[in-house]
This record gives sequence, C-alpha cells and structure tokens, in this order.
Amino acid sequence: MLYVDMDSFFASCELLRHAEYLGKPLVIGTSEERNKERGVVQTCTYEARKFGIKSGMPIVQAYKLCKELVYIPSDEKYYEDVSDRIFAVLRSYGRPVEQYSIDEAAIDIEGLDYGSAVAMGKELKDRIMKEIGLKCTIGISHGKYIAKMVCESAKPDGLKLLRREEIVPFLKGKAIEEIPGVGPKTASKLHSIGIDTIDKVGSTDVQLLSKATGSFGAELHNIAVGDDRSRVVESSEALSISRERTLESNTTDIKDVYLMADRLVEEVYGDVEKKNVLFKGVGIKIKYDDFTYVTRSTLLKNYSQSKEQIASVARKLFERNFDAKKPIRKIGVKVYSLSRVSGQRRLS
Ligand SMILES: [Mg+2]
Repeated sequence: MLYVDMDSFFASCELLRHAEYLGKPLVIGTSEERNKERGVVQTCTYEARKFGIKSGMPIVQAYKLCKELVYIPSDEKYYEDVSDRIFAVLRSYGRPVEQYSIDEAAIDIEGLDYGSAVAMGKELKDRIMKEIGLKCTIGISHGKYIAKMVCESAKPDGLKLLRREEIVPFLKGKAIEEIPGVGPKTASKLHSIGIDTIDKVGSTDVQLLSKATGSFGAELHNIAVGDDRSRVVESSEALSISRERTLESNTTDIKDVYLMADRLVEEVYGDVEKKNVLFKGVGIKIKYDDFTYVTRSTLLKNYSQSKEQIASVARKLFERNFDAKKPIRKIGVKVYSLSRVSGQRRLS
C-alpha cells in the first residue's frame, strides 16, 4: 500500500498563487477577512507552526503567538480544483486509488516489490512537484492503516518504506490514538479496559477487544500485530456532492431551515441520480450570522441512493444542532463517501 498526503495542503495551494508569502508564517482561517478574529486556524505553514500555531486554534490566539502572521480566508473551491489535478496524477497509474480526503489517498500497489514501490513513490513526488508545484509525503507499507501511520511519521516532504518485519517495532510504545480511525470514543473504550498503547492491543485477546470496540476489534488486533489487511476501496472521483445557499433573511426559526433543506436535498439528489452514484455519508453545514459555522455528518450502515434517506438524516442533524439563540445565515447539505453503481468497482 502506498499512502500519499499533501504537506499543509491549503496553505501550499495559497503559496502557489501568492509567492510573495513564501517563507512567511501563514494561516488559512475559517472566517472572511473582515471577521477573521472570530474564526479558527484551518491549517498553517510550517513557518507558523514554529510559533506554536496549529489547526483548530482561535485566530486571536494565533496572533498573540505571532504578530507578523499572514492571514488568508479559506477558498475551498480552489483547493478542490488543485486536488482534482493531483488525483488525476495519482489515478494515471491505472491502480485502484482510495480518496481519504481532499489531499490524502491510498494507492493499491499489489505486485510491486519494495524497490519498485519506492521508485513509484519517488516518481509520484517528482510529478506532483513538476506538474502541480506542491510537496507531499508518501508512506509505503502493508495495509492502509500502517501506510498512513508511516506517512505521518515521514512528514514533511518525506518518503518512507516500512518493511513487514519493521512494522511491530515501529508500532511499539505508540498510543492507540495514533491508529487512523481510533477516535476519542474508541480510545476511551480501550482505556476503560486498561489499553493505552498499540502493543497492548496486540497482546489483548481479540474477543475482549471486540466486546469493547465492536466490529473494529478484530481489525485493531491485526493492525497491532503487524498484519493490517485493509485494502483500497475505490470511490468515485468526486469527494462529495453538496449544495449550500443563503437564507432570504437570517433566521432563528427551524421551519425556515427545514424548507431550505428540502430544496437542497432535491438538488443534491438530482446530482446523485445524474452521476449514478451511491453514497454512504450525509452531512450538513450551518453558517451563523457571525460567520462561524458548524458541520455535522452521519455515516450510514450501507451505501444508499435514497432521497428520503438524505432528507431524514439531514433533518435529524439540523434538529440536533439547532440553537434558537444563534441566527442562521446559510445552510448546506451534502452526501459523501461516494461509490459508482456500475462498473468494476467494489462497493464494500
Ligand atoms: Mg495533508
């Protein structure tokens, strides 16, 4: 498995078109320029990280750490365009590619020996630099989870191969939270049975793990003992299908939200039908009048192509996250984790 992750992607995209900020501490923020103090850091350059600035930090705090900070509001449409060009390069090898996020992917390199895999990694890095002008890090190992962790450990601008016999030593002593997919929920379940490191996962009985973490238990055990069997699941080229729209006037009435949500669901579903894709995730976005926003999403048990399902999940998410004290300016609906209906693609 070969795992690619772009280095500080949004910030690097901005530097492509703003060479004057090269070498400067730069943050990409969630709010528009005039409201920037209300937002948080979405991502930042390594120069900004040196000041202790990191993703999720309030902009106000970032300015306290560094007065010369350069601020750019997030332009997701542009980042998606750059991402499309990167994925065209990744897909040009004719191998299965699984898109994890706007700037991360796993590529199935089954059949390549270590030498050829590293050569392919080098070539990919060169091509992405030459054709797009961006740096990335590549991790190569067995299974998606391990390859992603190797990639993480090689950042920035790295290329690292972890042979099968090196996996267990590599994992030794690492916290369970470092396994991709182990979020706070799974982590606290594992903590409750006394497991805090990956090697402890490996020496714990699979049944006990499954009792604590459900179906993820067996997979976790495999990863911990260096037998990560995860494979690439191809998804459609589009990361998601989404629509968002500003309400006629700011509202604190959930009925207005539902009305607009129904329209957005119609439009999203129209695209789902046209592109003939299945989706596994449904998400919403609520933008408030102070330009802050929240996004919420739900993963379904199975792939779906039902309009009613988009509508009911979206409604539930809006209801659960509605706050009558905060006027809403704009809302969005999306489906993601897409898969093609026809063709040779695996859907599981
Ligand atoms: Mg990245």
